Parts: sequence; C-alpha cells; structure tokens
Amino acid sequence: MICFDHVSKIYSSDVAALNDISFEIENDRRTVLYGPSGSGKTTILSIMAGLISPTSGKVVIDKSDKISFVFQEDRLFRHLNVFDNIAFGLDHSRYSREQIKDKVERIATLTHTAEYLYQKASTLSGGQKQRAAIARALVSHPDILLMDEAFSHLDQGLKKTMILELIEWVEQLGITLVWVSHDFQEALLLAEHMIVIEHGKIVQQGTPYEISLHPATYEIASALSLLGMNEWNGTFVPVSACSFHKEQGSVQVKGWQKKLCIPYKDGYLYTGIVDGKMFCVFSKEKAG
Ligand code: ADP
Ligand code: MG
Repeated sequence: MICFDHVSKIYSSDVAALNDISFEIENDRRTVLYGPSGSGKTTILSIMAGLISPTSGKVVIDKSDKISFVFQEDRLFRHLNVFDNIAFGLDHSRYSREQIKDKVERIATLTHTAEYLYQKASTLSGGQKQRAAIARALVSHPDILLMDEAFSHLDQGLKKTMILELIEWVEQLGITLVWVSHDFQEALLLAEHMIVIEHGKIVQQGTPYEISLHPATYEIASALSLLGMNEWNGTFVPVSACSFHKEQGSVQVKGWQKKLCIPYKDGYLYTGIVDGKMFCVFSKEKAG
C-alpha cells in the first residue's frame, strides 16, 4: 500500500506542482494516474520513487517494498547489449554470475526480449527498447512498478499489444502497477483504479467504468468524447442484461462480437461490438 497524506510540492521556482493531495494505492492492483500534461503526475511518481521529497505532507510506503521505475524514454545504455542492460537491474553483490544469467534469461523469455538479448541497445527499434527497459525493471522482482508515460513513443497498435502483455506480466509476478498517462484510452485499457489529476489536485477517483459513466470534470468528459464514446448510446450494458454463451472461443451476447477481454482482480471487462456500436460488459465469470 502506498499512502499520500495531504502532500504538497512546491518547486524552488514557486511552482505549486501538487496541492494538498491524499490518496491510497492498494497492493496488487493496477492504478492509473491520469491527467493532462503539467498536472503533476511525474511529480507524484518521483515522490513515490524517493527521487524528490514533498514540501509538506506525509508519504507512507512499506519499507520492505522494492520499487522499479520505467521512464518515458527508455534510458538504456546504448553501448551495452540487452543482456547487460537487463542485468543492470540486479544487485550484483547478491548474486553469482550463474544466478544473474538465470534471472536475466527468465525475464527475457517472459518479455520476449530473448531473441535480441545479445544485440546492442543502440540497434533496437522503439518497441524493443521499451521491452528491454521493462525487462530491466522487472528482473529484480519489484513489489511496485512505476511507469511514466512509458509507451507514449509507440504507435497505437504496438502500444495496445504491449499494454495487454504488461497486464499479464504484472499479474503473473504479483506487482502493484502505478501507471502515469495523459491518454484516456490507455487509462481505460489498463486501470483497475483511476486517479484523475488536474492542476496538482485530485478531481476524481474510481474504476474506469465509474469515471466513464460519471465524469467529474469537463476535461474528463471531453477526453471521453474524443474517444467517440459519446456514440456508445447507453454505453455500458449491465451484466444482468447479458448472457454469455461459450461458442468456439468467442463471447456471444445477442450478436456480440468480442474485441477485447481485460482481466480485473474481481472479474473481466469485455468490450465488443453489437450492431456496429461499441459496448462494454463487466462479468465476474471468464467467458469464451
Ligand atoms: P506532468 O507529469 O503531469 O506533466 P509534472 O509533475 O512534470 O507534470 O509537472 C507539474 C508542474 O510542475 C508543471 O507546472 C511543471 O512545469 C512543474 N515542474 C516539474 N518539475 C519541475 C522542476 N524540477 N522545477 C520547477 N518546476 C517543475
Ligand atoms: Mg510527466
């Protein structure tokens, strides 16, 4: 659990980046800090990571919690190969060479970086670099993974693939993910819990489902309509109105065509198309 209690941050230039914010981040849950550029998201992550201190207020993080940080830019060592970059995430005084090799190879298999493990970082594509950066963050088996707009340089298709994979990795490794984004679509895809920040203040918290149904500010509502979600006509289908039939691996809800299934701690969020319109269904059961 990460707890911010009346935290403010004023940079030396008199910029009030955070203004009396309080929130809690539950363990083993994917939390997205969402807000426009300049709202204070990176400041919050940097305080969590211990890179900077708050001007006032209290931050409580379990001392035994190991924290990893993935930045917007990959921050790999260009002249080193992927193996050495990933190994950099490990405390070399604690492990033998064999143990290090074993740990790096395991995480490389999980993150699909194994096929270019001995390639120099400078020769990788954007997506490959970001995978290597994540592998480096995961190799030490952190309890908390902080990611600051880490996929913002990737194209939409690759971004979606990597987000879905990331969800799988953090589920498998039991990691508390704190994800920073100014992209609502990304937040919807990733978040089990969303904290919306504007001008250094929290304006709304809840599941993406709750926030989509009742956006608290004009900015949130407008981010939603940018997505075309205003065309969702009645938007979310209540689970009670749906029946899932397992039919050759796809979910059928009265002509429903499944597009995406995102695992949540207490169920699954399905998005799909019915009569050309997009719908979301939350179900306790795994269907399809
Ligand atoms: P976000 O990550 O949401 O874009 P930041 O946390 O980076 O927002 O910044 C919040 C505010 O604090 C902005 O007005 C930004 O200009 C200011 N800020 C960030 N870092 C510094 C710094 N080191 N010194 C002075 N002002 C800063
Ligand atoms: Mg930022």
